[in-house]
Amino acid sequence: MFIFGHIGLSFAALYVLGRKIKNIDYRFLILGSLLPDIIDKPLGLVVFADTLYNGRIIAHTAVFALAVSVLSLRARKLRMLSAGIWLHLLMDFMFLYPETLLWPAFGGFRPLDYRPDFVVQLISNPYTYAGEIAGFSFLMYIFVKYRLYRRENFMRFVRTGKLE
Ligand SMILES: [Zn+2]
Repeated sequence: MFIFGHIGLSFAALYVLGRKIKNIDYRFLILGSLLPDIIDKPLGLVVFADTLYNGRIIAHTAVFALAVSVLSLRARKLRMLSAGIWLHLLMDFMFLYPETLLWPAFGGFRPLDYRPDFVVQLISNPYTYAGEIAGFSFLMYIFVKYRLYRRENFMRFVRTGKLE
């Protein structure tokens, strides 16, 4: 899953399931839903391209998510960041990759034995394109419902992270 899938479906999960949670700051949720890829893709696929070609490393581990969760006990703002990270790991099916999820229990990270083609993945993997379409559609629903196409509404959302 890529950007719209991660943002939109995390947004939908909290919007639907988190109705009783007060003061959801969706900005932190959005950041958290992308953070594992923001950290790992450049690190694993560019910086360590020669030695460790893998876009799912340290920020795709339970250790990383737990560390942010522990920090969020002190800093409430980080709760949504933490929720976004856990949802990202879930949507990446990291439970199918225990050697990464439970790092360092099974040793170091391993390089991929193939070169992923993200364009091919987007158009050929139903999970990827269906996730992108569903996520994008939900974001459009929020965009229209809360009239975020109006500049003042959009800027209020950017400033507060709240939907009103
Ligand atoms: Zn990821």
